[in-house]
Amino acid sequence: MIDAVLRDPSIVPRPTALIIKRESLAANLELLRNCTARRVPLMAVVKGDAYGHGLTDTARLLVEAGADSLAVAVLEEGVALRRAGIEKDILVLGGLSSSQIPHYLDHRLEFAVASTEKLEHVASHATPRNPARVHLKVDTGMGRYGVQWDRAEPFLRAAASAPNIDVAGIFSHLACSDDTESSFTAIQVARFSKVLKGARELGLVRARAHLANSAGVLHHPETHFDLIRPGIALYGVMPCPVATPALRPALSWFTQVSYFKVLQRGDPVGYGGTWTAPQRTRIATLPVGYADGYPQSAGGKASVIIRGVRYPVVGRICMDAVMVDLGPEGTAFNGDRAILVGATASDEIRIEDIARWADRSPYEVLTALGRRVPRFYMK
Ligand SMILES: *Cc1c(COP(=O)(O)O)cnc(C)c1O
Repeated sequence: MIDAVLRDPSIVPRPTALIIKRESLAANLELLRNCTARRVPLMAVVKGDAYGHGLTDTARLLVEAGADSLAVAVLEEGVALRRAGIEKDILVLGGLSSSQIPHYLDHRLEFAVASTEKLEHVASHATPRNPARVHLKVDTGMGRYGVQWDRAEPFLRAAASAPNIDVAGIFSHLACSDDTESSFTAIQVARFSKVLKGARELGLVRARAHLANSAGVLHHPETHFDLIRPGIALYGVMPCPVATPALRPALSWFTQVSYFKVLQRGDPVGYGGTWTAPQRTRIATLPVGYADGYPQSAGGKASVIIRGVRYPVVGRICMDAVMVDLGPEGTAFNGDRAILVGATASDEIRIEDIARWADRSPYEVLTALGRRVPRFYMK
């Protein structure tokens, strides 16, 4: 399949492709759901172009795999999902601009509301025929969006009685769940529970409580509440360095050797000549670079797999090319497949490896994957 994709010029305008496996998305989704004691609903987070995997196609695969609802960060992402014909509930997590409220209502998008003032704006647009479905955002320690947990009562009271507003959820976001040593998650859970108790007393009994991101789902069962909200783990990428149960990378990234040359000892490679051949050596050039999201800061540390062998990337990573040192004996031919991210029978390069080489978070590496790299979805 992969070679067929890479070699078919009618479907691949260039010999570089991201392959996304539906099976892996489905397995990760099931694994995350099984982390919860009561198999609570799962809201699949597909913001940031589904963490670089491609928004609408990936969302469709996740829905087919059993996601109960979807979450995005901004209005446009929600609208794109609706335009793609996705009918599931969609929550827009990010900040709410009052001018956008009519668009949320028109597209039947759920959205986060984080102040009494915004709640009033929403109420002024919502009608019995076009009610708003909102999730109340509470800040329990992220210091970002959300009403402060210890001053939430007037907000909750207003929400409970606001006309034409259906409070579908009450939520907060974890700040330190990726650090399993930190006690801050327990503090956030306690604060959130307190807010929730108040909300229930005020009559907000049907609103789903949700707090858990991927690391929360995997490592902090007390954060699961009525619904889980994983993102990165769905894609098989670990939210934290702690050993994580068998998450399967959903994405692999391939290209082909497009040039081969022999350099003599002392010959420089790349901008600035930062690397010179330590001996007579063979250099393969791959037609992919930082414009495709292969981070320049990974230079000097990155490696790729060609013909089953791991080789170092040498010289500065270019916008559209990387050079690979095959050594004096290595072989590669034009058209050979090079694995940037993916596995062979005995070796594997993960997004987490690229992140480590580049000194970035895996989130950043995923969302930087270039739009110009074609994505293919394997059933
Ligand atoms: C991004 C995000 C998530 C998902 O986070 P992951 O760490 O990718 O699982 C959940 N909730 C909110 C509010 C978010 O912004």
